[in-house]
Amino acid sequence: MKKVYLDNAATTPLADEVISEMISAMKNFGNPSSTHSYGQEAKILIENVRRKVADYLHVTPAEIIFTSCGTESNNMIIKSCVRNLGVQRIITSPIEHKCVAETITEMKTRKNIEVVYLRPDKKGDVNIAQLEELLKSSEAKTLVSLMHANNEIGNLIDIKKVAEICKENGALFHSDTVQSMAHLPLDFSEIPLDFASCSAHKFHGPKGSGFAFIRKSSGLKSLITGGPQERSLRAGTENVAGIVGLGKAMELSMDHLTEYATQIQGIKDYAIEMITNAVPGVKFNGRSAEGEGSLYTVLSVLLPFKDSMIGMKLDMKGIAVSQGSACSSGASKPSMVMLMLLNDDELNSTTPLRVSFSHLTTRDEIDYFTEVLKGIAEAHKIENVNS
Ligand code: PLP
Repeated sequence: MKKVYLDNAATTPLADEVISEMISAMKNFGNPSSTHSYGQEAKILIENVRRKVADYLHVTPAEIIFTSCGTESNNMIIKSCVRNLGVQRIITSPIEHKCVAETITEMKTRKNIEVVYLRPDKKGDVNIAQLEELLKSSEAKTLVSLMHANNEIGNLIDIKKVAEICKENGALFHSDTVQSMAHLPLDFSEIPLDFASCSAHKFHGPKGSGFAFIRKSSGLKSLITGGPQERSLRAGTENVAGIVGLGKAMELSMDHLTEYATQIQGIKDYAIEMITNAVPGVKFNGRSAEGEGSLYTVLSVLLPFKDSMIGMKLDMKGIAVSQGSACSSGASKPSMVMLMLLNDDELNSTTPLRVSFSHLTTRDEIDYFTEVLKGIAEAHKIENVNS
């Protein structure tokens, strides 16, 4: 059976070059904390990646803390802001990834932190003027946590503007950059944010490897206690091969940043055209069908019929997409993002589908996907006529 992978916002295939570098790193079995040559060779592998990542982001190596994933990075940043930096209020949005949303809810219920949500409009944009007003209206020590690119609809925030507003008003700013890191240029010497997160498997690197960007002198502390690894910000023997894989994947993405962005945007535009022709009445959520303000890898489709089995139907034809974000796929209730964007009528009569691309996606694959989608849409039309 033909297999088509259109779920690159959930995870991406490992690049061959990443696999080769990881295999050779695995053969270097020394513990990076050991002072002998075995350990020091492993340590050098890690420090080389740290320097490379820091250079891409225009920060210092000491500001890059390797972790196991985006979820861990976000947890560490938010929890430590409350525990160690005296944050009393968190301003966020209801459409953050679960690993941010759940962590903030925990801070609210267990630590009594005030949480204020910026309600997104029907396009999925959060209200930056409201953020500014909120920051000016209270003296409470505040953390603002807003994702750079939304994993379900691809909407982007103006990360530089938000960072500047937070800075002017004395608030800390954390941005979940898991979907945009290594896909969009990010210069943290220009963007005055305090914290960001990264996950290697979103750009053809390995799962179980990520990092947190922690602005120097922020005072953040480790959640995991033990040894002094990662400048005492994350105890535990490092995942050397995972870090090496992250470094190689980031290098490949950064070396081809403009080329891949143009190529993937071309595939996305083609998919929009083909889906629009295949399914009369189809819509696209948020800004995902607009060039501006949307991450080029993500397209959020709103099918004009209800079909909770659509993910399975496509899977049976070898096509992998997501019905929500990866974490909520399989769940029958609408995601928080869809609850914010759609009214009750739309929620009851439509089906959202997230299609996400990489530089490996081809036009042939889009043709096959839209042909299958057209068949499903036509079957719904016949069902409606007969009912
Ligand atoms: N944040 C966003 C926006 C994501 O899309 C994801 C993964 O889907 C995560 C965080 C979690 O990253 P990880 O899978 O590395 O835990």
